[in-house]
Amino acid sequence: MLRIEQSGRNSYFYVLSSRGKPQLVCNGYSYHIDHQLGDKTFWRCLQYYRGGCRARCIVHGCKIIPGSVQHNHGIFADTPVS
Ligand SMILES: [Zn+2]
Repeated sequence: MLRIEQSGRNSYFYVLSSRGKPQLVCNGYSYHIDHQLGDKTFWRCLQYYRGGCRARCIVHGCKIIPGSVQHNHGIFADTPVS
């Protein structure tokens, strides 16, 4: 079941990729995990490799902190169907 969270003006939810890896969908953009540090999870845009997008965001507890770098692309319908 999909649970959509709200953090300030950002809405986000988690999905599983076709490989079973967690993905974050925030404001329509998909991210995969870059690394974790303490209780913070650093996410990187799915288009990092394919499109060279440097956008990131950090999830800290139930808060989501979008990075300062904007996406270099529009919202793709690349959210995996689970
Ligand atoms: Zn991006």
